[in-house]
This record gives sequence, structure tokens and C-alpha cells, in this order.
Amino acid sequence: MAERTPQEAEVGAPDALTEVDGAPARADGAPAPPVGAHAQPAGAPVQPVGAQDQAADLALLDRAEQQLADIESALGRLDAGVYGTCEVCGTPIERERLEASPVARRCAAHDGG
Ligand SMILES: [Zn+2]
Repeated sequence: MAERTPQEAEVGAPDALTEVDGAPARADGAPAPPVGAHAQPAGAPVQPVGAQDQAADLALLDRAEQQLADIESALGRLDAGVYGTCEVCGTPIERERLEASPVARRCAAHDGG
């Protein structure tokens, strides 16, 4: 006696009926930003150093050297004990004047002359 075992082919029915909410909630009315407005091509020509830049550098250097000379001069007067006195009339330079410019060598009356 032959026994036949019926094979039940279980068909896997996709029972995944869960609704997928694919689209996430988005804020309405948000415009997309413009793309590529400032796109710059690679290999842009390098701007050469102009003569104006060199003149500005020289002016800055000249000013720095002048400031250094003023400071050294002020230190020299400090060592000599005459710092803060007008080199013309010898009167003490105004305090607020020295606060504004510690390297001032003259009083207000003799400055700029
Ligand atoms: Zn003076």
C-alpha cells in the first residue's frame, strides 16, 4: 500500500497590507532655493597684484616705521627723564593728549607748527 502524502504547497500570500505612508509631511509653500547662481568655473584667472596694492603696502610700511621711530624716541625721552614734556617749551604735555597719543612730543600749543 502506497501512501501518498499530499504536499500542501503553502503559497505565501503577501499579507503585508499595511499602508506605507511614503510621502513625509512637508511644509507647504517652501520654494526651492536657486541652484547654481554663483557657480564659478574652475581655473579662474588669478588677479594680478596691482600697483595700487604695492603703494598701499609701502604706505603701511612707511607708517609703521614712523610709529616705531616715535616709540623709540619716546623711550629715549623716558630714559632721559623728559618724557611727557613739550620739546619746545618744556611744559608737561596734557595728560589726555598723552593718553590719546603716548608718543606725543609737544604740547597742544606747539603741535602741528
Ligand atoms: Zn609746548
